Amino acid sequence: MQDLNELLNIDKNLIWHPYSAMSSDLPIYHVDSANGVRLKLSNGQELIDGMSSWWSVIHGYNHPAMNLALEQQLKDMAHVMFGGLTHTPAIRLTEKIIDITPEPLNAVFYSDSGSVAVEVAMKMAIQYWHAKGKTKRQRFISLRSGYHGDTLGAMSVSDPETGIHSLFSGMLPKQIFIEQPQCRFGEPCTDNNIAALKKVLTEHGEHCAALIMEPIVQGAGGMWFYSADYLVKARKLCDEHNLLLIFDEIATGFGRTGKLFACEHADIVPDIMCIGKALTGGYLSLAATLTKQEIYMTIDRGEPGVFMHGPTFMGNPLACRAALTSICLLVESKWQENINRIQQYLEKGLAPCRNSPKVNDVRVLGGIGVVELKELVDMYTIVPKFVEAGVWIRPFGKLIYIMPPYIIDNDDLGTLTSAIVSLINDS
Ligand SMILES: *Cc1c(COP(=O)(O)O)cnc(C)c1O
Repeated sequence: MQDLNELLNIDKNLIWHPYSAMSSDLPIYHVDSANGVRLKLSNGQELIDGMSSWWSVIHGYNHPAMNLALEQQLKDMAHVMFGGLTHTPAIRLTEKIIDITPEPLNAVFYSDSGSVAVEVAMKMAIQYWHAKGKTKRQRFISLRSGYHGDTLGAMSVSDPETGIHSLFSGMLPKQIFIEQPQCRFGEPCTDNNIAALKKVLTEHGEHCAALIMEPIVQGAGGMWFYSADYLVKARKLCDEHNLLLIFDEIATGFGRTGKLFACEHADIVPDIMCIGKALTGGYLSLAATLTKQEIYMTIDRGEPGVFMHGPTFMGNPLACRAALTSICLLVESKWQENINRIQQYLEKGLAPCRNSPKVNDVRVLGGIGVVELKELVDMYTIVPKFVEAGVWIRPFGKLIYIMPPYIIDNDDLGTLTSAIVSLINDS
């Protein structure tokens, strides 16, 4: 125990955690190991994971097939530079990604994180228009309550309030924001619902490179599920106004919403698409930006004749091997049945929350369950209560939400949802 306290002290004094104060005294838990859907804490306690480590660990922790593939890859090489060199894990992964993503996305740019995949998408759009002589097309249209990452370009298209744009106003490019789609998932999108997008396209379209959005599910910006019909209309408007459409599928990709990619709900294809998070099954950090032939050919023909990006760890072989293995596991599994089952259990399990006077809204889509409260969640008290109940759930703002690994069984799902129900009723 002495050792554990010492470790936690070092952590507290020297290490930042995501979006937290260095001097924070929020509780933090030391994980020893993880297996299946369970995190094992150093005090011996086991927690059922409701978060999939932020959407990524879709097959569960310590997966034998994933472990084996990485052990084999280690014997070949952990890393090699991608400039002037290539390797089979990147090539096979690329084939697989192109195979499972919609036509005509057929070129892949690898990077190390979702935020960078978004930066790359934005740079692709700008270079595309530059190559076509449209050098003024440098701004982006984006949705309020969106989240696209923490680097400056990605931040500039994320929600201005939750991203505190005012703080970075001297540095961030000013993008054009429209209200988040009001039409819920499953509902039609009325003329009224799409009016804001129509208006900015008419007013600002010619100075914009692209519309960027998270299709169907807005994630970290508010866990909001909106109409597929909105996407159909957005695609049509982008075509009419000659704008590129960028879909950020970093959270929604790889089956989470009930389709392999969320754009399939609307049966449309973006011009550029970002993937990440579940790409490697949560094993390593890898992301990718996909586009179509017309875009990369145009970029290649324009100034300066190359696409201007190239991360040091681009196409890391270990990460590519993990991604290839994870995608094979996914498409060979009965993931759709699993997601349908999770959706049903989440709906049933979270339904009692609808009656609580503290709850504003309950929404479930695919493997995502959200309870939106009327008041902000108190992180100091709620997280320890969840831990006491044997579950790992990390709310933010007014949102308590879960998106468990696809392999979770019904009993464990029940434990997750009843922990949420009793916490809301008892607090
Ligand atoms: C998480 C996320 C990102 C950023 O990915 P990182 O790997 O954290 O940089 C971007 N867009 C969406 C929709 C995300 O959910």
